[in-house]
Amino acid sequence: MHVLLTGGNRGIGAEIVRQMSERGDHVISTSRDGSTGHRLDVSDGTALKQFAGAAGTIDLLVCNAGVFLDRGQELDGGFDADKWAHTFAVNVTAVFQTIQAHLPNLAESQSPKIAIIASQMGSSERASGGSYIYRASKAAAINLATNLSIDLEPRGVAVGVYHPGWVRTEMGGAGADIDAATSATGLIARFDALSLAHTGVFENYDGTPMPY
Ligand code: NDP
Repeated sequence: MHVLLTGGNRGIGAEIVRQMSERGDHVISTSRDGSTGHRLDVSDGTALKQFAGAAGTIDLLVCNAGVFLDRGQELDGGFDADKWAHTFAVNVTAVFQTIQAHLPNLAESQSPKIAIIASQMGSSERASGGSYIYRASKAAAINLATNLSIDLEPRGVAVGVYHPGWVRTEMGGAGADIDAATSATGLIARFDALSLAHTGVFENYDGTPMPY
């Protein structure tokens, strides 16, 4: 399987790359620092299109790169416009533009799939206040997945959106529930199970359905 993943240099993305490569998938992953061999800042729309133009056939596109910039911000005075702009550029706009740019590459696959790594923090049913920017960005990512699943079904492309668990990475912190390996193993099983029969799913890494 030909896999392309954004943000593969550390955290959950690096572990997905490691496990999928180990089992024999051909995985290309991008990183801002170029350490994965493919340098790409996903918020650079021009670079993103150039990269997609040379990427070739893709069976699975994983939109993993993300930022969480407003943890612990105060409602009174916090959440400045720069944080909104940066977060939405990476967590929302770049997800859409990555998918859009790779549609021709996905069209070359026999069974193309798109996986978006969102978060339970974007679930409207699990809204518990705070982190307005991150929550709104992940809610938008979930919404994108749902709408793309409708439009891409006639093209044979299955779309899934996932909560990776609360994971011990730089973003999740040392006190999180699970390690990156456990999250990645679960997510890879979800990607394998994703098909047109249930396109548009929002699932936890362990397969539990998530509330939208
Ligand atoms: P990390 O902070 O450990 O890693 C984030 C990754 O995204 C890094 O590879 C980072 O690259 C990359 N990235 C950030 N901004 C850009 C950009 N502009 N261009 C390209 N790459 C970028 O996070 P996790 O591994 O924990 O998170 C992975 C995904 O899972 C994210 O979408 C996150 O929102 C989501 N998630 C994580 C949870 C957790 O508990 N950890 C819970 C729920 C969701 P760089 O090194 O250059 O910064």
